[in-house]
Amino acid sequence: MLTRSALIYLSRHEGLKDFATRFSFFKKLTTRFVAGETIDEAVNFIREINAENCTASFDHLNESVSSAAEAEKEVVEYLEILNKIEETKIRSNVSIKLTQFGLGLDPELAYRNARRVVEEAHRHGNFTRVDMEDSHVTQVTIDIFKRLRSEFGLNDVGIVLQSYLHRTYADAQELVKLPARIRICKGAYNEPPEVAFPTKKDVDENYIKVMQLLLASGHYHGIATHDPRMIEATINFSAREGISKDKFEFQMLYGIRRDLQRQLARDGYNMRVYVPYGKHWYPYFMRRLAERPANIWFVLKNLFKG
Ligand SMILES: Cc1cc2nc3c(=O)[nH]c(=O)nc-3n(C[C@H](O)[C@H](O)[C@H](O)COP(=O)(O)OP(=O)(O)OC[C@H]3O[C@@H](n4cnc5c(N)ncnc54)[C@H](O)[C@@H]3O)c2cc1C
Repeated sequence: MLTRSALIYLSRHEGLKDFATRFSFFKKLTTRFVAGETIDEAVNFIREINAENCTASFDHLNESVSSAAEAEKEVVEYLEILNKIEETKIRSNVSIKLTQFGLGLDPELAYRNARRVVEEAHRHGNFTRVDMEDSHVTQVTIDIFKRLRSEFGLNDVGIVLQSYLHRTYADAQELVKLPARIRICKGAYNEPPEVAFPTKKDVDENYIKVMQLLLASGHYHGIATHDPRMIEATINFSAREGISKDKFEFQMLYGIRRDLQRQLARDGYNMRVYVPYGKHWYPYFMRRLAERPANIWFVLKNLFKG
């Protein structure tokens, strides 16, 4: 049986990535977690969920770019997304990854590229969320976010923290003071025990601690999880502390627990769905398999259904 860490290891395998994305045969695997290859396909899906009272966050898949030219294409894609959101009047913001804008080549380049997207989003009255990647880039991601936050408003740009990291509670304490809008999630990468809690129990406990800190801060944060226990803890804490439903949002990924997404929206909670699209689906897709290796059977069944 493939383990979580083996799947995450494979997600970084450049040869497999090229192989998988080159053959259209594999494309149908992705529909479980990816909304399509084009902006228009993602827009069609977002229209559907908007009609069910869910908002969205657009994500163009392409992390760890290997040239400044590729990073430039990513910026252009995001500028187009922002125009499209305005033109189609869908309710969606955008999520970006700094390695998509050249972080691995030069942090200054990533900052300048991210800044262009945040500035354009600001011009449109929209919001940019900086996703969090693996722990090698946690500090530089926070540093770039702080620079952006010093130049733009609370409602222009936000960041993500991961409850599996030991450092996250302290980061959350520091960032809420800016203030900053934070998405808390558990974390999707392979991390060593020196930096991350190895057991689910500790990751979950830390998640609840950070969620409580965020909600008590009085600013608008994103509680990103499909875990019914984390959701229940959030609902109970907010009810106990008199924090109304419009003061935070739940967030889930495209294709995961759509039933729960609909239910929370029907119950009057703000619900945002993260909508990834694009041709470079391989690492994202493999992380989704790693979170729940039972997904492999679902995927294989579909592949051979013809
Ligand atoms: C909106 C959003 C944005 C995110 N952004 C980031 C980010 O910037 N950086 C980052 O490192 N991680 C990010 N993640 C991923 C996150 O860190 C987790 O890896 C992922 O959400 C699984 O954790 P969980 O909270 O759902 O709990 P888990 O304990 O992993 O899962 C709880 C339950 O949810 C369901 N579930 C979870 N994952 C899957 C899956 N792949 N397929 C089917 N069912 C599943 C299962 O029923 C499972 O029992 C994001 C997640 C969300 C929802």
